[in-house]
Amino acid sequence: EAYLAAIDRANPVLNAYVTVTADKARDMAKSSDARLAKGEGGALEGIPLGIKDLFATEGIHTQACSHVLDGFKPRYESTVTSNLWADGAVMLGKLNMDEFAMGSSNETSYYGPVINPWRRSRLQTTVKPTIHDGGGGFVVPGGVEQSRTYDNMQLVPGGSSGGSASSVAAFLCAGATATDTGGSIRQPAAFTGTVGIKPTYGRCSRWGVVAFASSLDQAGPIARDVRDAAILLKSMASVDPKDTTSVDRPVPDYEAVIGKPIKGMKVGIPKEYRVEGMPEDIEALWQKGIAWLKDAGAEIVDISLPHTKYALPAYYIVAPAEASSNLARYDGVRYGLRVPGKDIIDMYEKTRAAGFGREVKRRIMIGTYVLSAGYYDAYYLQAQKVRTLIKRDFENVFAAGVDVILTPATPSAAFGVADEDMASDPVKMYLNDIFTVTVNMAGLPGISVPAGLDGKGLPLGLQLIGRPFDEETLFQTAHVIE
Ligand code: GLN
Repeated sequence: EAYLAAIDRANPVLNAYVTVTADKARDMAKSSDARLAKGEGGALEGIPLGIKDLFATEGIHTQACSHVLDGFKPRYESTVTSNLWADGAVMLGKLNMDEFAMGSSNETSYYGPVINPWRRSRLQTTVKPTIHDGGGGFVVPGGVEQSRTYDNMQLVPGGSSGGSASSVAAFLCAGATATDTGGSIRQPAAFTGTVGIKPTYGRCSRWGVVAFASSLDQAGPIARDVRDAAILLKSMASVDPKDTTSVDRPVPDYEAVIGKPIKGMKVGIPKEYRVEGMPEDIEALWQKGIAWLKDAGAEIVDISLPHTKYALPAYYIVAPAEASSNLARYDGVRYGLRVPGKDIIDMYEKTRAAGFGREVKRRIMIGTYVLSAGYYDAYYLQAQKVRTLIKRDFENVFAAGVDVILTPATPSAAFGVADEDMASDPVKMYLNDIFTVTVNMAGLPGISVPAGLDGKGLPLGLQLIGRPFDEETLFQTAHVIE
């Protein structure tokens, strides 16, 4: 009830939820109470979660925040959400996101932008996420009211999992599911002072997750701290016969590693992540992170990942290529929206023209272009080769004994809604993913952990990258930073 009340109060401002399933939440909570009264109950019994609109939820609107999926209510449940419900979690509703998870600011959603609960504070006294009460003051969760002088510019929560990050930061759920194709868990976590982990490709089943770029997509949690993220991932992860890319490996008790010393651990610092024009705040935070891990007994080593600079351009070929193929299914026949036409081709065209937003159309056009005869070798095949080189860079570093890699999570803090710079040039928006896409290209696990505030009082995150299926080292190390 407390979460539902918080959603009622703050969602009109934050726009984090696109569907609130209050009745279902109450039913599920009652069942949890009954199980707990009998001394039963799973690892997440009664814990209220928000679900990114990309996850199919049986009988409940699932639209990937696209107009083209209007009215779509799946008759099946995604494996990840099934796992959560089996452990007793309670669904509060579906969370806003960039349309089909394409974006870095949650501004491509058919349902409009999500607002970051953080504000730039001129006093620089903001130490906790606050919920804007719409009346000029701030309501700090916990009930203490404080007035602040602030610059009222609304900030984006990052994307594509902007609803997940904003709702966790503003206490509108205890944790959220999210997905990450090129940074969509880690970048919004960094922009909102929350923890987000993209596990190794194959750790979570993609079954029932609306496909964007199938060889890159992975589900993971956004949570308030590292321990919560560890508990949620344990529940979300599983092998699944319905997704042949899910991996049959035992899922460790991630929570058990939290608090374990990192003495002797080898932490790699990649020189290629020191990009030109990176704000001083980010560089300073990175140095602080290095110092914290050193103080905790880790050995810091300089490393090189020489193909890093090709990751972003290669990602923006591979991801649109796969997206253009995955999105071919939205034809006005099988799902959601249909705009009638004079014949079937006309109907397809009208439906797709009306149903997809600008960014999604841009991706489909790039994708079909790089896959077409004559360009396939020059672009798509070349990008796949680059992908292999990026993966090898990481393999070499890990083979040399590095346990974990430390980088900034994003090249900046949260930026303003409708930022003119970003709106005028899509490539500027793509540059946000510069530190996160390499991890998806290589299929590795990566976590973003809040590590401090910038000069304007906004949260910044550090990223840790680990060996395949070694999420444990990420949780262990991230806990030292948080
Ligand atoms: N911002 C990236 C993109 O737009 C990543 C999105 C994602 O991870 N889903 O493709």
